[in-house]
Amino acid sequence: MPELPEVETVRRGLEERFVGRRIEHVEVGRERSVRRTSREEVIARLTGTTPTAARRRGKYLIVDLDSGDQMMIHLRMSGQVLIDSVTTRRPAHTHVVLTLTGRPAEELRFVDPRTFGEVVVYDPDVADSVVPELARLGPDPIAEGLDPAQLRRSLSSTARAVKAALLDQALVAGIGNIYGDEILHRARIHPKRPARNVSPKQIRRLHACIHEVLNEAIAAGGSTLDDAQYVDLMGEAGSFQDRHRVYGRAGERCLSCGRGHVVSAVIGGRTTSWCGVCQR
Ligand SMILES: [Zn+2]
Repeated sequence: MPELPEVETVRRGLEERFVGRRIEHVEVGRERSVRRTSREEVIARLTGTTPTAARRRGKYLIVDLDSGDQMMIHLRMSGQVLIDSVTTRRPAHTHVVLTLTGRPAEELRFVDPRTFGEVVVYDPDVADSVVPELARLGPDPIAEGLDPAQLRRSLSSTARAVKAALLDQALVAGIGNIYGDEILHRARIHPKRPARNVSPKQIRRLHACIHEVLNEAIAAGGSTLDDAQYVDLMGEAGSFQDRHRVYGRAGERCLSCGRGHVVSAVIGGRTTSWCGVCQR
């Protein structure tokens, strides 16, 4: 599932190639992709509007429209947002298409083989009832900033494993399984350590590593795994997967200490990988 760095990469693409271009025409194929409202409502609210900003909160993309409405896009498991010439063949599973003004003639495509993803267009005055999950999100470390005191408060509130706490979107927004593992590895913290037992020194390290890992991953355009599911707006893969130190490396020697091996177990319902030697 795309996490903060992947969604941020898409957001930057939207800012560059989508914002400021009037939406001339809207097509909705699979209604499941707009299930929160309806095909008619999405078409009516988007047609003729111009996006004025592309923002992000956690794993959610939020586009402001000049009509005052907002469009929320959540990629979930397999969603992609692509921009391409109207003359190219649309990929299979293209469910929503926004034809844009300007030359060359291009369209924004929402592609989603597994259809867990969503496009929602709504009046921000009723956001709490249409997209209530946005109000429940914790601070986004990159978009809004996360200070060490906030992180300490979040972790001290729970006895769950620190890995599970980091993945709780209500505590910190945007971190998923890949970056949770990579951040804890860099911070040398054992993923099963109860969150409230993470020491002040470890919290400082964890805070620094959250920002380091996420920023490095954004600079690398995110992580594209073997399933090639995640690509940016132009269809390009990211490269941070080449720098994963524990995620997907179970059984291999630890690249950081050179002594331990990467082990894995299910924590909080997710397969978690860590080094038994350098993570305490
Ligand atoms: Zn190690």
